[in-house]
Amino acid sequence: MKEQRTANGRGRHHAFNIPDGTLLRDKMLTPHLLALACTSAAQQLERQRDLHPGVFVGDLPLQDLPEEGAGAEAVLNLFVERYAEQISNSAGPRYFGFVTGGSTPASVIGDWMVSTLDQNPFGSTDSIAPQIERQAIHYLKQLLNIDEAYFGSFVTGATMSNFVGIATARQWIGEQRGHDYSIEGITGAEPIQVLSGSAHSSIYKVLSMAGIGRNAVVKIKNLPGREAMDVADLERHLQRANGPVIVSASAGTVNTVDFDDLEAIGRLKKRYKFWMHVDGAFGGFAGCSPRYAHLTRGINYADSITVDAHKWLNVPYDSAMHFTRHQAQQGKVFQNQAAYLGGDQLSPDFLHYTPENSRRFRALPAWFTLLAYGRSGHAEIVERNCALASLLGEYIERSRHFRLLAPVRMNVVCFTLKGQATQAAVHELMNAVRDDGRAYFSPTVFEGIPALRAAVSNWQTEEKDIQIAFEALEELAARSSVAL
Ligand SMILES: *Cc1c(COP(=O)(O)O)cnc(C)c1O
Repeated sequence: MKEQRTANGRGRHHAFNIPDGTLLRDKMLTPHLLALACTSAAQQLERQRDLHPGVFVGDLPLQDLPEEGAGAEAVLNLFVERYAEQISNSAGPRYFGFVTGGSTPASVIGDWMVSTLDQNPFGSTDSIAPQIERQAIHYLKQLLNIDEAYFGSFVTGATMSNFVGIATARQWIGEQRGHDYSIEGITGAEPIQVLSGSAHSSIYKVLSMAGIGRNAVVKIKNLPGREAMDVADLERHLQRANGPVIVSASAGTVNTVDFDDLEAIGRLKKRYKFWMHVDGAFGGFAGCSPRYAHLTRGINYADSITVDAHKWLNVPYDSAMHFTRHQAQQGKVFQNQAAYLGGDQLSPDFLHYTPENSRRFRALPAWFTLLAYGRSGHAEIVERNCALASLLGEYIERSRHFRLLAPVRMNVVCFTLKGQATQAAVHELMNAVRDDGRAYFSPTVFEGIPALRAAVSNWQTEEKDIQIAFEALEELAARSSVAL
């Protein structure tokens, strides 16, 4: 913008006056640009079934920032021409890597509205956005059998949700010890112990972020052949613990979707003082299906709960929920007092309870999809994904080339090559399947054995996708010199 004299020469105003007028032109062309983007997006979505699920992309040389802008339409064309083929089709039906959800149609249009409206729902009374966030949290508690008494908020992912849980646990432990760590810090404080059987890697990351340290994890023995804690061993550690500790329980491990016995762990709270955190990043969705809800029984003993939305709720990245029974302690950790914002007493706003101050209106895509498909629609996605994983498990069991490494409990199939499954052989096969373009799997190591994982978490995946993916596995394993 340039400063200009007004016509009458008195006073000044600021107006668009860009050499080529690209910004002004784009402003006038906005409906046209949105229509172009819409067509382009629709074309991309239509190809999701046919595009290669995974792509290999090498490094690109960096380019210099242009002095003059090209305008939005030219940039859209450039992006589509140059990059569309190299975007991972991870939202498509045969991408089985990690635990990757797609995006339901309702969540995509909800997400478009988020950018259009550009809200900052940290909380105040001048927008309905924070109340829609509360409403979405309420729906999710109902969907997942989480008590109404929990305070919930949206964060960027399960890692950040785990961070909120662990940071609030740290505050609680400080209070048990007569300290306010939010003010004093934990430098010089007695170490904090975190008891866990199969903590997700992000728990270690979060312990580093929270100043507790990765070494705080005390490994609890798992049940034989399981990724679930031996609760008797947990109890022995609790007896020996010198003061309150954190127990980090898993509701759905990434390799075998195993669940800690949340009920048995929760009952120990009567006799021992500990903070119970439950990482249910995707396994929390067991709660929405009558078939699997028993797996999260006892979840309401938790002090804090992590559930991802960009995995099994099938909303666009990035989105997850945090649920806490300790809103006050969470507020001590995250409060952001400033005269111009209003204190947490004046405005019990998300800004005082979440790591971010300014934040995206990420509750809206969740709200859209929950209303569009309801409890039964979202339960159907979970149950269909599990049925398809179990079908793939059956194919693997009958295969000459592969063997299952764990029973298929929900939506993940953990398997490896028969014979000598070296890391190199597994990676070779994984890359061959990716380049073949019929499916995408990600590698893992389970009980010391290099393995592949197929996580079925996409609303679009159907039986034919499992067949196509399995055929690719069989063909490529047969061709590979290392199999058999
Ligand atoms: C995916 C996952 C996480 C981390 O989630 P992000 O959304 O990637 O931050 C944590 N815990 C479990 C069990 C997970 O599956």
